[in-house]
Amino acid sequence: MGFRHCRILDSDHSGKLELVGMTLRELEYAEEKRQQKLYDEWLASRPKCWSCMDPIEEEFAWEINGHTYCEFCAEEKFRVFIGD
Ligand SMILES: [Zn+2]
Repeated sequence: MGFRHCRILDSDHSGKLELVGMTLRELEYAEEKRQQKLYDEWLASRPKCWSCMDPIEEEFAWEINGHTYCEFCAEEKFRVFIGD
């Protein structure tokens, strides 16, 4: 693509601005990376499952004996068959 998008950057936070030309592809890549970083930060802020240690992305989890479990582990560890 021949497009060039100009952005004003203050990359070193000095207040000194530089004009940077980016192709559309570069712009999309930068946005993708920004989204990924936001997602990673959000993920890092989530409670972790006591059993599999994965961050729990769902709104609800199971808290059993003071520990938080994801749905998968809660079912795996605590579901019992009690007959029909
Ligand atoms: Zn788990």
